[in-house]
Amino acid sequence: MPKVALITGVNGQDGSYLVELLLEKGYDVHGMVRRTSQFSRGRIEETRQRAQDQGRVFELHYGNLGDSSSLHRVLAACRPDEIYNLASQSHVGASFEEPEYATEVNGTAVLRLLECIRHIGLKTRFYQASSSELYGNVAEEPQTENTPFHPLSPYAVSKLYAYWIVRSYRETYGMHASNGILYNHESPRRGESFVTRKITYSLARIKAGHQRVLRLGNLGARRDWGYAKDFVQAMWLMLQQEKADDYVVATGELHSVREFIEHAAAIAGFSIAWEGAGVNERGLDRHTGQILIEVDPKFYRPADLDRVRGDATKARTQLGWRPTVTFDQLVALMMESDIDLARHEHHSR
Ligand code: NAP
Ligand code: GDP
Repeated sequence: MPKVALITGVNGQDGSYLVELLLEKGYDVHGMVRRTSQFSRGRIEETRQRAQDQGRVFELHYGNLGDSSSLHRVLAACRPDEIYNLASQSHVGASFEEPEYATEVNGTAVLRLLECIRHIGLKTRFYQASSSELYGNVAEEPQTENTPFHPLSPYAVSKLYAYWIVRSYRETYGMHASNGILYNHESPRRGESFVTRKITYSLARIKAGHQRVLRLGNLGARRDWGYAKDFVQAMWLMLQQEKADDYVVATGELHSVREFIEHAAAIAGFSIAWEGAGVNERGLDRHTGQILIEVDPKFYRPADLDRVRGDATKARTQLGWRPTVTFDQLVALMMESDIDLARHEHHSR
């Protein structure tokens, strides 16, 4: 009998890569999607079609993390061996604008899901999408599983609740429930409002003549950026361990937003020269003098992480996990994909 997995947030960046991985591994996969006013399955439609053509199980269920009855219905219908809880209000910036909603979906909902599992009496393994945002105002660098947390945003605080409720259910009820403390991970499927994708998408559109300028917030922020496809491997590995545990998943490298822009711009055929400072900083193309980057304080956050860098030694030694894609390769992958997308946008006009 194939193993059965349920992925919440299956239509998100990570969900879309994870479903591909689990199908490759022979799982029957169930995905939870929420109802929206427009049909949106962009990241998974091709996989769903392919699975259907091959007679594989990849079934979608409507459900919402805010609604216990829907969680109950979905869990009872598919009775998964493994649950990957990836659904969330995943944008840190947006969580300052809708803090109660972030708390509800990222925090309380995890308790809701764990309670459903307990009441149904499911013997399932549980993965929780925890985040490097937990470290916030970092106490040390690089961060490990033992570094104290100091969350700075409503997103991070809600994820802190989720992290602890998962540990609590593991310790109290003996659930096989693990936290993956994942650092930023990106891909051509990353949502366009996250900084990496915003950069590659906008530069590609500027190059194609569809957009004039790219407006960003804090250019000095530094992140440990990895490739989403590598990171979903670590999620799966966590649930294959005999004992549930918590793991940092990171590349261990730090790069700034400015650096990301410079690399991406070079691939798009621009050469960035910076001038000015603070809100007056601008990035120009050395060849043409065209202003490509401007700072817009609208994208500053009330509190922001200056830098986060993870130490994934535990994941490396205990899970045998390591990243396969370098920073340069990641930027190239995303930039090339968006250049292609912008080209099609041009053709369709
Ligand atoms: P994502 O692309 O934003 O996907 C999130 C998914 O959650 C979307 O499919 C969304 O549905 C769904 N969702 C949101 N609210 C929901 C609700 N109330 N009920 C049901 N589904 C809901 O995020 P991601 O990058 O794949 O990240 C996956 C998880 O890892 C998230 O929990 C995120 O916070 C966490 N994480 C991500 C990173 C990262 O760098 N990517 C790092 C650390 C942790 P729609 O498709 O309808 O919008
Ligand atoms: P996060 O690390 O989960 O918040 O991922 P993001 O991609 O949203 O942001 C990474 C960093 O880029 C943060 O420090 C942001 O403040 C910074 N940043 C600078 N400009 C922007 C922008 O226009 N959009 C976003 N999303 N982030 C920006």
